[in-house]
Amino acid sequence: MVLRSPPVESFDVAIVGGGSIGCAIALRLAKAGAQVCVIEKCFPGAEASSAAAGILAPQAESHGQGPFLDLCLRSGALYPAFALELQQDTGIDVGYVQSGLLEIATDAAAAEALASRAAWQRARGLAAEIQTPDQARKREPALQGPLVAALHFPNDHQIESRLLVRALYAAASSAGARFTTAFVRGVLVEKSRAAGVVTNAGPIGAGSVVIAAGAWSEGITAASAHVEPSRGQMVEFSLKQPIFRSVIMGAGGYVVPRTDGRVIAGSTDERVGFDRSPTPAGIERILGIAAALVPALRDAPVSSVWTGFRPASRDGLPLLGETDVPGLLAATGHYRNGILLTPITASAISDLVIGRSPEVDLAPFSPRR
Ligand SMILES: Cc1cc2nc3c(=O)[nH]c(=O)nc-3n(C[C@H](O)[C@H](O)[C@H](O)COP(=O)(O)OP(=O)(O)OC[C@H]3O[C@@H](n4cnc5c(N)ncnc54)[C@H](O)[C@@H]3O)c2cc1C
Repeated sequence: MVLRSPPVESFDVAIVGGGSIGCAIALRLAKAGAQVCVIEKCFPGAEASSAAAGILAPQAESHGQGPFLDLCLRSGALYPAFALELQQDTGIDVGYVQSGLLEIATDAAAAEALASRAAWQRARGLAAEIQTPDQARKREPALQGPLVAALHFPNDHQIESRLLVRALYAAASSAGARFTTAFVRGVLVEKSRAAGVVTNAGPIGAGSVVIAAGAWSEGITAASAHVEPSRGQMVEFSLKQPIFRSVIMGAGGYVVPRTDGRVIAGSTDERVGFDRSPTPAGIERILGIAAALVPALRDAPVSSVWTGFRPASRDGLPLLGETDVPGLLAATGHYRNGILLTPITASAISDLVIGRSPEVDLAPFSPRR
């Protein structure tokens, strides 16, 4: 009897990782008519993308002008249409709320830093309003802790990231993307070009391969450049109704109000490898931040704690584009802003894969930099 190995299944594109980045790229490519396979070791949205607070804050997260701010602003501007598209494709409301964001200062030095941030952002034409403690408390009466000044970003918003990945998975599947549960061990290279991936269930052939494996990207191929896990711990409170509306940042962290009364508080940034355990020190720190920002949270019921791994590149910027191996692309290293950067990453990477010129200049984010 002759035993034949089964034929290797082949796709136009293999995407490694089914987080928000991999699912969104799959959606864009499937809608463009490509045969796409997403290979996910666990389930779509199993990792960072579901752990995220879902803050969409190009302005509050920015420390200066430059390509990163431009990328974040463009992605933030895509969100209203992106959320609507997902709702229409899947019926899932991804919780996009135009909540605005208040960053608060509790001492004179922090107030000065807010003033200088407001000045350069306003000079660039962005909305950023310095508020006195009275003005800030008029907007958010829950701000009963120490307060010297606040900076209001009316155009920084939020989304419910778990619902986002769920919707992306559903939309990409209905657009024709295939999702396979398997662990990718490496990239197949033939004639110096990416030709697919090797998984624990066998090889999968592909004309292009996109590494979107988040904090695990470096383990798959050195070509996807250096990415390390940054552990973030999170605490969720469940109140009966919302007691504030804006995302509030300050005291080294943030609190994010959901419309149903939940409040997500974060976070930590720890380089401890892939250790998933929340720690007493991490939780204590987050409870302290939450109480400093909104003192009423001191008595609020804690409903959940969790951790997640941000994919952190060496310089904190994402790795977007072709690697040293032709046909092998990276879409990773989004660190603290991967949810914000999901729509722009999806359109830019899918453009590259299908041979169109992306609307944004990806040179500053090249994995070969
Ligand atoms: C605590 C915390 C709070 C955050 N808050 C925000 C926020 O408010 N706003 C914001 O914009 N961003 C936030 N982020 C960052 C954001 O979550 C990430 O940047 C983003 O989710 C990265 O998406 P991803 O798809 O690249 O990674 P992931 O969601 O981690 O997905 C990668 C996927 O690849 C799979 N995978 C890995 N290796 C393999 C393999 N070998 N084979 C097959 N599959 C594999 C994994 O199982 C995983 O599902 C936060 C992150 C954390 C941890």
